[in-house]
Amino acid sequence: MFLARNVMKPFDPKLLHRVKNEVLERPIDRDIKTRDTGEVVIKKETKVIDVIKWLYETRCNKCLKSSQAEPIIADYYVWDTIYYGLKEKIDSLASKDCRLGALRDTVFKQEKIKIKGKEIEVYIVSRLEVNDKWEDIFNKAPQAWTSGGEIGKKPGLVSTYFGNLIRKQVLVRYKHEPKYKHINCPKHGEELQELNDYDKQKIILIERLEYPYPELHSLVRRVLS
Ligand SMILES: [Zn+2]
Repeated sequence: MFLARNVMKPFDPKLLHRVKNEVLERPIDRDIKTRDTGEVVIKKETKVIDVIKWLYETRCNKCLKSSQAEPIIADYYVWDTIYYGLKEKIDSLASKDCRLGALRDTVFKQEKIKIKGKEIEVYIVSRLEVNDKWEDIFNKAPQAWTSGGEIGKKPGLVSTYFGNLIRKQVLVRYKHEPKYKHINCPKHGEELQELNDYDKQKIILIERLEYPYPELHSLVRRVLS
């Protein structure tokens, strides 16, 4: 279900609940295959609820390290957005703005990436890391963060500034990917764990799947407009 545009209408929660459960119990009417080899990954007649469980199925990192790890269903995944900025441009701007220098020296990583077939020298940065390390970033140049008379909480200063870099396209969105999973392991309890190799392989497989309902695209657009 996708809710957007702040549309609020009175509704019957019981009806909504019943309809949701009915949809979850519905079997899918076709196989879901990989785009490249056409291999069937999820069989026709699988219930929607089981398709969703398959997407969220994982193994606890701690269990994997010990003996055997039973499959469990993740509660949710925490996504991260990775941005990139041209190295030359960032270095030039950072020489005039200590806040950018503080970010660069704390959380930016130098890399060569391919954009539209061309290899370029960039810095890449993770949004989650900026959130986690705002204090280190702030403390690298405390006077610069408040010199313009900025008001507000320190983490807010860092995240607002970061947001402006994106708005001004100094930083460009590179990829959006799950980073952590929240699980409730029967042995280890509630855990927020980084994705393991099993999870990464699963993502690669999920990304190889063809979207099974292309005919719904036009319908979705009609609902939204
Ligand atoms: Zn465990």
